[in-house]
Amino acid sequence: MANVRVAVRVRPLSKREVKEGGRIIVEIDGKVAKIRNLKVDSRSDGFGDSREKVVAFGFDYCYWSVNPEDPHYASQDVVFQDLGTEVLNGAAKGYNICLFAYGQTGSGKTYTMLGTPASVGLTPRICEGLFVREEECASPPSSCRIKVSFLEIYNERVRDLLKPPDKKKSYTLRVREHPEMGPYVQGLSQHVVTNYKQVIQLLEEGIANR
Ligand code: ADP
Ligand code: MG
Repeated sequence: MANVRVAVRVRPLSKREVKEGGRIIVEIDGKVAKIRNLKVDSRSDGFGDSREKVVAFGFDYCYWSVNPEDPHYASQDVVFQDLGTEVLNGAAKGYNICLFAYGQTGSGKTYTMLGTPASVGLTPRICEGLFVREEECASPPSSCRIKVSFLEIYNERVRDLLKPPDKKKSYTLRVREHPEMGPYVQGLSQHVVTNYKQVIQLLEEGIANR
């Protein structure tokens, strides 16, 4: 299997989108997301391009998260069971794993990656999973240390979100390339953690510094 997986998630329309008469034009069919243009409705005069077009895109995972009553509804847990467990399994095998969300503002990145207290997202669930795993494989000689860093790239500037307050300022870090380890952020603080609670504390601290 390929070592890059791509998932797409469809969120519900926001109140504003509903108010403005927005309609969902995406449909999920297994691993295919279909986008339908609605020109056929808008051109009631019969002129112009009135053909309905459906464009289909294939993904490794497609999530329909529009209405919880739908039998195909993908909850935060469903997303975690696929993507989160893959991250944890890969990391446990010693691979470098990267999980990122991509999409325009308001598309649902933060909801998926962090979630809300009532609907916990991927990052806290993965962090929790790290420690469950560590307890499971406590058998020597394997040992591991878990370190947390949290940075923000905003307007092309890299900023450490976990720097002690006195050193914070509007200090920009440099992204550099190590010949063996690959790209890294020079001077980024690393925080050793031994349990899930500590990770969540850092996560909250970082979010507050954004
Ligand atoms: P982004 O981080 O990409 O800018 P957000 O995660 O803030 O977008 O999402 C925008 C809005 O849509 C928020 O109000 C969020 O709660 C809501 N939202 C996003 N994804 C979902 C989802 N899967 N289910 C319910 N609400 C969602
Ligand atoms: Mg966001």
